[in-house]
Amino acid sequence: MTEPTPTTSEISVDVPTPERALAVGAHPDDVEFGCAATLAKWSDQGTDVQVLVLTDGSKGSWDPAEDQRALISTRKREQEAAASALGASTVHFLDLVDGELTGNRGEVGAVCEALRAVRPDLVLGHDPWKRYRLHPDHAAAGRLVVEGIVAARDPHFFPRLGAPHRPERLLLFEPDVIDHVERVHESFDAKIDALFAHRSQWPSTMGIEVGSPDEEDQTKAFVERLRAEAAEAGELIGGGVAEPFKRMEPL
Ligand SMILES: [Zn+2]
Repeated sequence: MTEPTPTTSEISVDVPTPERALAVGAHPDDVEFGCAATLAKWSDQGTDVQVLVLTDGSKGSWDPAEDQRALISTRKREQEAAASALGASTVHFLDLVDGELTGNRGEVGAVCEALRAVRPDLVLGHDPWKRYRLHPDHAAAGRLVVEGIVAARDPHFFPRLGAPHRPERLLLFEPDVIDHVERVHESFDAKIDALFAHRSQWPSTMGIEVGSPDEEDQTKAFVERLRAEAAEAGELIGGGVAEPFKRMEPL
């Protein structure tokens, strides 16, 4: 059986602007790829946007000689710069080891504690049910958000880790099944700026070799790829520039 292709009428458009949104990514740059234009749109509309990065990003290099300690601090600076390009107020780092998210109770407790401290009405995270995903941290991070929300809202989970908090809705980015899109025509350039703030990731995730004669062409190709993805999401609602999600509510 294949998944039925969603029709336009089954796809909702633009949730009410949240008061506070928390976007959770496995690594520095995941939130920017997944939902940066949506976050930039909301921060323009007055939302308090915050970002939670679960791992330290220490394996985000293809260079075997990379100084991982230096890479961790570089990627934190890049994440802070990306967040300010989106108008986010705060970036929280859990500093778990990159590539080694397990989804254990300690990690669920840490996500629960962050949710109870930030108290967002809307949460965004990786889709834990996305098929054929290669990087294990992305699936684990998605599961941690789902389990963290259940723990945060129910008082008998982690009773010493803050007062219970129930967000209103969850949007999963890079979704396996799309049933919601956010229109982001006005804020799409902020997504590009935020992604380019992750300079250490240009070679690996953006296909841009810094300092090479092809850098300019590769940069253009990357932006074209992003625009094509946003147009594809827009096509689901008859055109425009959009980011796709799986929407879960009530929680
Ligand atoms: Zn990632």
